Amino acid sequence: MTDFRPTRLAALRDALARGDFDGLLVTSLANVRYLTGFSGSNALLLVTAKECLLLTDFRYATQVEEEVNGAAAVRIEANSLWTGLWSALAGLTGVDRVGFESAHLLHRDFQRLLEQGARWQWRPVTDLVESLREQKDVGEIAHIEGAVAIAERALDATLREIHPGLTEMQVAGMLEQQLRHAGSEGFPFESIVASGPRSALPHARASDRQLALGDLLLLDFGAIYRGYCSDITRTFVLGPATAEQQDVYNVVREANAVASGAIRAGMRGMAADALARDYIDARGFGAAFGHSLGHGIGLEVHEAPRLAKTAEATLPLGAVVTIEPGIYRSGWGGVRIEDDVLLTDAGPRILTSFPRDLRELL
Ligand code: ZN
Ligand code: ZN
Repeated sequence: MTDFRPTRLAALRDALARGDFDGLLVTSLANVRYLTGFSGSNALLLVTAKECLLLTDFRYATQVEEEVNGAAAVRIEANSLWTGLWSALAGLTGVDRVGFESAHLLHRDFQRLLEQGARWQWRPVTDLVESLREQKDVGEIAHIEGAVAIAERALDATLREIHPGLTEMQVAGMLEQQLRHAGSEGFPFESIVASGPRSALPHARASDRQLALGDLLLLDFGAIYRGYCSDITRTFVLGPATAEQQDVYNVVREANAVASGAIRAGMRGMAADALARDYIDARGFGAAFGHSLGHGIGLEVHEAPRLAKTAEATLPLGAVVTIEPGIYRSGWGGVRIEDDVLLTDAGPRILTSFPRDLRELL
């Protein structure tokens, strides 16, 4: 498959030149991975017009060579990565104004810039690499599709084992075992298993509550494949659904379908959010949909762009976003249906294919 890292680096260098930066210190590990392929947990990356230098430590000496494979110069530091950074920077001429990722730097490390790094001009930047990451290339799309397939296989297998009396934590354990079994490298976030009235908590942790007949059961989880995340939510009923459960479910399902069908690249994030929100509002449930419609997914499970009431930025072609409307009624329960959608020039392509009809388990 094509190696897109040189293209990404070139795009970053263009952005640096436009911003009048001589270089950028990359401290977000997701950004390091995007630019170099390195997936370790300790790294500093310095990008200038001519250099791309990755600093890491001895534990990663073998892994870094395999993963980076020429995409960056690698330096293994025996002591502190920062010591290596100062010596590398000191050897470069014409590098004065250097950006740093202000959303990804500990205050302690910022102090290092001011003290040991005092001879360079440090300028805070936000979202420079993140905005490049919004547009996925074909390799990234394939990885997200892989993560979607794993999540859907795991969900299918888990549903066969569900019965009243299991606790939410037991269901989360079963789901996570199936995710691993299906090939997930890990869990992009703590799997949400929320039953009965607890399904009204949009970010419920799995608890020791036991599933009971008549419960709504909301599962929100994802898989990781080659570093890329999926994020999917489905809501079920244990046993036959009541008319009220069916009604609320239908509104959410239709809001999801409306937004998934009408979202387009070039639209503002707020306009995409309104697709589902207006539909839910018009049916009288507006106050019960208290969160944003969705977010980008990729190397991180929450990344740009945002689909929210306040999101003014436009959605780029090639973005993969979640569409996750929900209705939550305290003491009763909640319904959310979340899909992962790729924005192509031919319109939206829904990557998740797990059925959205209300399924009555048992
Ligand atoms: Zn989710
Ligand atoms: Zn989500």
